[in-house]
Amino acid sequence: MKHIFITGGVVSSLGKGLTAASLGALLEGRGYRVSLQKFDPYLNVDPGTMSPFQHGEVYVLEDGAETDLDLGHYERFTHCKLSRANSVSSGQVYAEVLRKERRGDYLGSTVQVIPHVTDQVKKCLGATEEGAYDIVITEIGGTIGDIEGLPILEGLRQFALEKGRENVLFVHVTLIPYLRAAGELKSKPSQQSVARLREIGIQPDILVCRTEKTLDQDLRKKLSLFCNVPERAVIEEKDLECSIYELPLALHAEKLDVLVLEKLGLASNSIDMSEWEKVVNRLKYPEGKVRIALVGKYVELQDAYKSVYESLTHGGIANNCRVEVIRIDAEAIEADGVEAHLSNVNGILVPGGFGNRGTEGKIAAARYAREHDIPYFGICLGMQIAVIEFARNVICLNANSTEFDPKTEHAVIDIMETQKKVEGKGASMRLGAFDCTLKDNTLAHAIYKKHKISERHRHRYELNNTYKQAFETAGLVFSGHNEALNLVEMIENPHNRWFVGVQFHPEFQSKPNAAHPLFESFIAATQKTYEK
Ligand code: GLN
Repeated sequence: MKHIFITGGVVSSLGKGLTAASLGALLEGRGYRVSLQKFDPYLNVDPGTMSPFQHGEVYVLEDGAETDLDLGHYERFTHCKLSRANSVSSGQVYAEVLRKERRGDYLGSTVQVIPHVTDQVKKCLGATEEGAYDIVITEIGGTIGDIEGLPILEGLRQFALEKGRENVLFVHVTLIPYLRAAGELKSKPSQQSVARLREIGIQPDILVCRTEKTLDQDLRKKLSLFCNVPERAVIEEKDLECSIYELPLALHAEKLDVLVLEKLGLASNSIDMSEWEKVVNRLKYPEGKVRIALVGKYVELQDAYKSVYESLTHGGIANNCRVEVIRIDAEAIEADGVEAHLSNVNGILVPGGFGNRGTEGKIAAARYAREHDIPYFGICLGMQIAVIEFARNVICLNANSTEFDPKTEHAVIDIMETQKKVEGKGASMRLGAFDCTLKDNTLAHAIYKKHKISERHRHRYELNNTYKQAFETAGLVFSGHNEALNLVEMIENPHNRWFVGVQFHPEFQSKPNAAHPLFESFIAATQKTYEK
């Protein structure tokens, strides 16, 4: 098994995750079995408890691990199935070292960063079962020079020494800033960041250069000389014109895949890029266009609803239409009224969320969608919102979720029985994949075209079964159930042409070339409103 490590230099947010995912896609395209993992230097055990302001979306894996959003890129760009072991943080490493120390495993020795922490780092890095994959790509979070990242880098250096340098490849993603006043791209920050890596004992094999302008031959030569890599190992990664899904094609054009395989001593089998070309062509030259309102609490943040934004794009690719997402702050709806924000959209999506802030704005959006027959897609909290709205305005109950009002008269959404005794916040929700059975003659069944589905979850509250009869009598349809736990997983309103709520997160299973059926169908429905 070969290992590729991807580090980042100069600044954060360089798109290391996308680079790792795109390289994974190229190597898979060349016929290799690829797995991807991320190692984050922070001391949180996982990002599950981190605020969206700090961290962006929490991406949930099939086994229920709450992970960094880069794992979403890995799953969207490749076929690898990720698990808890593919998402490591320094917090996990230290927690394990301290647990062993308390258990007496270290037999009285002084517990130190080297070798105890670095040994644990190496254990996590090498956790992928030997033989299961040909190549494991590991992205190291953070930026070279961060103090907290040092034990990980030391672990990498030792790992490479032990595995043999021919089995390990270091790729450094770095920024080549353009100074407008000087009219020049600058290589110095990258030289310095590579120098820091070499100080630690890591010589990068390949330099991936993020840049807004084309790198000319002189600059490539200079980077090669100062960073001690061959000229053809200086790879340009220029800002993309229209979409992140151009990246595999761009890196392929720079021959990154050929170089990586050559350096790892693996054959460059032929590769067919036509799937990616098709995706990019559809994004560049769409035939239709729809406007989707995403009504949320963190709409000003780039990454808070990352997988939802991506899945909407995938729905657009499947329908050959451009999806313009209008991000609407739920509190702005409360302040300005719903008409001001939603009167000219083709579809409304309310994504997952926690806490009371903005919920009344979301409820107003669901009501507007129901009353004006605008396609509505409620995801997790978005389904709960639709249920509360229906209870209030169709059944005329003074209803709410106990999450927002613990003393509400009609708790149509209530905390799950199993959640009542939960005390800790970390990894304690209903998490990961659960089966769901779809009812015949429902929109859900028509969309999925099967009876048994499996979708990922992350929530504590659920539809209160006491009210099921009242909802059904009033015309709401429960189209998906978890039979083992007797939970409602999907709702739909058959009086509208497309009004669906799901307690799970379909956005974690959508891909650019294989849109999730719910997103594909939602965009198709909004296209019909657009034509109207
Ligand atoms: N806050 C709601 C719950 O815990 C919804 C969670 C979500 O949207 N992910 O059930």
